[in-house]
Order: sequence, then C-alpha cells, then structure tokens
Amino acid sequence: MQTIAERLDSARKGIDQAATSAHRPPKTVKLLAVSKTKPVSDIIEAYEAGQRMFGENYVQEGVEKVQELSGFKDIEWHMIGPIQSNKTKVVAEHFDWVQSVDREKIARRLNEQRPASMPPLNVCIQVNIDDEGSKSGVALNDLASLVEFVASQERLCLRGLMAIPKANPSEEQQRVTLSKLKELFDHYHTSLSNFDTLSVGMSSDMAEAIQHGSTMVRIGTAIFGKRT
Ligand SMILES: *Cc1c(COP(=O)(O)O)cnc(C)c1O
Repeated sequence: MQTIAERLDSARKGIDQAATSAHRPPKTVKLLAVSKTKPVSDIIEAYEAGQRMFGENYVQEGVEKVQELSGFKDIEWHMIGPIQSNKTKVVAEHFDWVQSVDREKIARRLNEQRPASMPPLNVCIQVNIDDEGSKSGVALNDLASLVEFVASQERLCLRGLMAIPKANPSEEQQRVTLSKLKELFDHYHTSLSNFDTLSVGMSSDMAEAIQHGSTMVRIGTAIFGKRT
C-alpha cells in the first residue's frame, strides 16, 4: 500500500514528465487534489506532503471540510461540482474558486453573495465540450455570452475554462476534443487579462490533457485511492 504522500509524489512526477515531453515548463501545470468523499484526515496527510489546492464536488460536504480545516490558512479550495441556485450563498462564502459555473443565474448569484470581506471569487466556466446531453457545462453556442457576462461581474474574477471530456474516447476523439478546448482557451487568453486557466485532465487522461495545453489537472483516485 502506497501512502498519500507517495502517490502525490508520483502524480507530481507524472505531471513534470508530461509537461517536459510537451516542451512545456513543469511549473505551468498545477495539481488540484480532488478530495471528494475522502475524510479530512486524508486532506491533512496531503497537506503535510506539501499539497495546497483541493477540489470538492458536493456543496455540503465541501463546506463542512472548509470549516473544519479553517485553521489551514493557505489551503486553496475549489468547488468543481454542479451547483444549484439555492446553494450559491454558502459556496460564495467558503470557496476560493468555483470551476463549475455554467449559467448566468449561478454567476449572478455568486457575484451578489460573495462577501465584501473576501477577495473576488475565482471562476472557471465549465464547457460541455463533447455536447453530451447528460453533462453539466455551457453549450458551445452559449459560451461567448456567458464569458462576457462573468467577465463583467465585479466580485468574480474570470480565470478560464473547465471541462470533463467524454469517458473512454478513441484516440482521435480525444485529440479533437482537447484541441477544440485549447483553441477556445487561447482565444480568450489573448483577450482577457486574468484568463490563465485551462482545467482539464483527470487520473486517466492527465498526460494527453497536458499535451494539449492543460494548466490544471484535477486528480482524485491516483492520490487518494478508489472512492466507494
Ligand atoms: C471526481 C472528479 C475528478 C477526479 O477524478 P479522478 O478520476 O478520481 O482523478 C476531477 N474532476 C471532476 C469534476 C470530478 O468530479
């Protein structure tokens, strides 16, 4: 059995390797440790091994962990799961980033509810890149207007795009999807000042995502083990 520290170390080495083989400096790819369903003790173990960015999917579970670990001032908390509009307030009050904004209503509420005492909330727009009916994320046709809306909100800082590509794609499918995402990212990256994040790549497709310009991979299983 490997420890969390050992698995984190392997994940970081995997990132460095993938970046290097893509001719990119390793520091251009950040590692978000996805701790959903895992106990606070696992997060502390990762923290002690140097990890500072953590991602949670479920609002209530995430908020409880943020509160329980409020003494760890330098943890950066990312909400990466779907958000219902009646949950925006607690999210705005507890998280540093929300990567799963996919409609105007959610963005407007997060903006209104972000406490004045906190810095602007970092936001990624989640894109339904493979146009899957079942998936969250804004449709490609609606992306431009959502980008414009989020960028205009004073209490939000638009940082980039997030996507969850289709599971088990063919190599060709994967290449097409990741290239399309990279193209969208580059378009906004050149025109918007804080737009620096392309959040794509999980335990199973990390290397391919980095090959295609990912700046943040979201890794759960490979660090914390299988979820039950
Ligand atoms: C669970 C989850 C991850 C991590 O997935 P793993 O396969 O465990 O690495 C990444 N992103 C999102 C949005 C998730 O829900």
